[in-house]
Amino acid sequence: MSAAPSVGVLALQGDVREHLAVLRELGADARPVRRERELAEVDGLVIPGGESTVMDKLARAFGLADPLRQRIADGMPVYGTCAGLIMLADRIVDGIEGQQSLGGLDIAVRRNAFGTQVDSFETDLDIPELGDPPVHAVFIRAPVVDEVGPSARALATLADGRVVAVEQGSLLGTSFHPEMTGETRFHEYFLQRVRARS
Ligand code: GLN
Repeated sequence: MSAAPSVGVLALQGDVREHLAVLRELGADARPVRRERELAEVDGLVIPGGESTVMDKLARAFGLADPLRQRIADGMPVYGTCAGLIMLADRIVDGIEGQQSLGGLDIAVRRNAFGTQVDSFETDLDIPELGDPPVHAVFIRAPVVDEVGPSARALATLADGRVVAVEQGSLLGTSFHPEMTGETRFHEYFLQRVRARS
């Protein structure tokens, strides 16, 4: 049997523990990543939900932003949820002044797209790649994907057609939080890519 894949969760801010728990439940050697040398030791990375503006500032302050961009460019599998999806987007709509992303996904993501009236909601999503049953998705001050460029592919849409999950090569992103509902199929989908490369 091959060794458990070593997977990081970017631990600058956000719901790090929930992701570590899901990844460990699925048999991964999951660890928090805060420093460049910790990033160098993992074969894949989850960027959690939280606040993308803060995560961006901390990533730059910790000298992690450029090493992260490099690993993404080298093809490391990365899965971003919510704020993590924003970090992976090439273009941010309604970011704060000076906000940067890491990029990698050829998409435009709109922050806080559901406004203040509807801060959070839950719905079921049919995602053919993940099979049955539908994914029960929790959205918390969530972004939506406004524009899917030619290199990226939509994986899930709301009933009104707005895109809330995308993939491109080894990158995967969701507007919602599978780690909060016991949904493990996205993490498993991500881990398959990590195992294929490690
Ligand atoms: N609104 C947050 C942001 O802009 C994302 C919210 C979340 O990750 N649950 O980063």
